[in-house]
Amino acid sequence: MKSIKIKFWGVRGSIPTPGYSTLHYGGNTSCVEVAFKNGPHFILDAGTGIRELGKHLQKLNKPIHSYILLSHFHWDHIQGLPFFRPAFNPKNKFTIIGSDDPAIHLDKIISFQMDPTYFPITIDDMRADISFRSIKEERITLDGVDVQTIYLNHPGYALGFRISYQNSSLIYISDNEPFQQDEETERKKLKSISKEKIEEAFEAYVENKNQNLIEFCEKANLLIHDTQYLEEEYKDKVTWGHSPLNFTVELAMRSKVKQLVLFHHDPDHDDAAIDRIEQLSKKILRSHKSRIACRAAKEGMTIEI
Ligand SMILES: [Zn+2]
Ligand SMILES: [Zn+2]
Repeated sequence: MKSIKIKFWGVRGSIPTPGYSTLHYGGNTSCVEVAFKNGPHFILDAGTGIRELGKHLQKLNKPIHSYILLSHFHWDHIQGLPFFRPAFNPKNKFTIIGSDDPAIHLDKIISFQMDPTYFPITIDDMRADISFRSIKEERITLDGVDVQTIYLNHPGYALGFRISYQNSSLIYISDNEPFQQDEETERKKLKSISKEKIEEAFEAYVENKNQNLIEFCEKANLLIHDTQYLEEEYKDKVTWGHSPLNFTVELAMRSKVKQLVLFHHDPDHDDAAIDRIEQLSKKILRSHKSRIACRAAKEGMTIEI
């Protein structure tokens, strides 16, 4: 294996989407496994994909030590956790890492979803050694792996991660959009202007406001980024916290990453719609003579960097 091995267990945004029309890409919500050569084990987000990952880890028949990095706490990123069987085995050890909400501490955020009103067992029933570590925008080291975080443009306090090990780096930005949430005037303007003006505003935004993000992603071996919408869908969904494909591709090109994975598929997009998003993204890359490899995330897909 190369330095970092990434496996996708859940690639859907917002809500799980089982059914015949999503068989190819899969319907589970966000969960990505990251293994490091002779290093620790990470799980990025605990959407419904973590349930199958848990079953897989149990089959390995050895104690599981893992860092669970949560981008934020919308349902599609935590809902699988109560069904993650390794958390119930006292031989296992997990550190759950994420940003506090200013009003609620990380451990409370997680235990609330297992309140008896919503779920029959509580977080205290999880017999594994579970600890919590609150982080903000910062840089930390976890068993030799460098983890850098950035707050994203998404309702609430969502983090993006830059994970570096040996000479490889991976960026995980599951939920993010080009425009700032608090830009009320920008938002109003956008709703009433032409497609050309939106493109212009969009360009300006990418140019100015997303410079930090471009630097954060710079020259990574792999960028996994929110690509929930087709270009024409975004204009009705500004401030929802998700990106159209043209922004994601632009970000990948400007930050000169080597590979791009389109992630957090819209629950209303069937396999054909995601195929189309992938084709359109590749078309933009080709038109810029870019050599960035690009594909849509799919359950079961693995990438080594
Ligand atoms: Zn999400
Ligand atoms: Zn979200």
